[in-house]
Amino acid sequence: MSVPPIAHPVNSSHRSRLAPLALPERLLLGPGPSNADPVVLDALARPPIGHLDPAYVALMGEVQELLRYAWQTDNRLTLPMSGTGSAAMEATLANTVERGDTVLVAVKGYFGLRLADMASRYGAHVVTISCPWGEAFSLEALEAALDEHRPAILAIVHAETSTGVCQPMEGIGDLCRRHGTLLLLDTVTSLGAVPVHLDAWGVDMAYSCSQKGLSCPPGLGPFTMGPRAEAKLASRGGKVPNWYLDVSLLNQYWGSDRVYHHTAPVNMNFGIREALRLLADEGLEQAWQRHRANAERLWSGLERLGLELHVAEPLRLPSLTTVRIPQGVDGKAFSQHLLNSHGIEVGGGLGELAGRIWRIGLMGYNSRQENVDRLLNLFEQELPAFRSSTPVAAAVA
Ligand code: PLP
Repeated sequence: MSVPPIAHPVNSSHRSRLAPLALPERLLLGPGPSNADPVVLDALARPPIGHLDPAYVALMGEVQELLRYAWQTDNRLTLPMSGTGSAAMEATLANTVERGDTVLVAVKGYFGLRLADMASRYGAHVVTISCPWGEAFSLEALEAALDEHRPAILAIVHAETSTGVCQPMEGIGDLCRRHGTLLLLDTVTSLGAVPVHLDAWGVDMAYSCSQKGLSCPPGLGPFTMGPRAEAKLASRGGKVPNWYLDVSLLNQYWGSDRVYHHTAPVNMNFGIREALRLLADEGLEQAWQRHRANAERLWSGLERLGLELHVAEPLRLPSLTTVRIPQGVDGKAFSQHLLNSHGIEVGGGLGELAGRIWRIGLMGYNSRQENVDRLLNLFEQELPAFRSSTPVAAAVA
């Protein structure tokens, strides 16, 4: 038998020429990911063990219990999806939407639009209601839409990362119960950073990510489903149309049977186990207060510098602040300068807010007073050079 020739010799020359991985040091103060806690990074670097090893199986139970704590829920079906937040988002819809179901999506930013898109791919009849990007929904607006459309599911984003708005949750769960509607909540930018009380709020399904309030790198998507959503899953006519995200199959591995489903990303789960342990050690309420205090320091500092915040104070999200780019300032040039000269990442606007705002994240490990002060100093000292009339701004342009 002849051996085929090496098809891509360029790869072999790369093998000798490429230097070992080198990455710049960054302070991630954008919309996510946020810097991971060094304790979490240590956990990720441990040698993998088998995904059915008794030690790993014990860790799985710990992760589930800690997630229930972080979300304030007793939901049995609580587990980290292998994938990012979008995988967990998709899992909530894949498991509960049946062709023709009406799904009402309350869109107040970019991630509401993603929910609507995903629901339509599972055959839902998607209805949307919208409010301006920078505002939240009133209970009255939601009630009117529920009355009109009688949806199977209401999907809404708690912490809209594209706008910096935190949706007030009081009363929405009760409304949904009265209308026979399941409540689906995106907690990607709130879990671990902002008060979340899934059971008290009557939330039936929720998802999140590992890379923001939990101080872990991206790679896992916490997912949870309560009894009313489980009943909808149990009564569906056919199979869940997504094998990888089918929670009834996944629960045979995460539940007591421990049946192989896919090879779990064990190191990511070491990491989230440590991230959640650190959150529990600090205490949820302490963590929420820390995020609030540091955000308030940032807000007052920015306002002192004459900058305008995009969201009214009562709706402002402590984990993500949106700042209007002043007239005459090249916002993109300033954020590139922060990255290139100071190793600090801040985000730009998404969707209809592109070019109009900066997005500053203070999430998990990064929600610290020294980070706030460092960033405020840079805004004070270096932003003036980026007004359109100055030589630096002209040079960058
Ligand atoms: N939902 C919200 C509110 C988000 O901010 C994000 C990402 O930032 C997502 C969903 C998607 O999560 P991921 O990028 O981890 O897939």
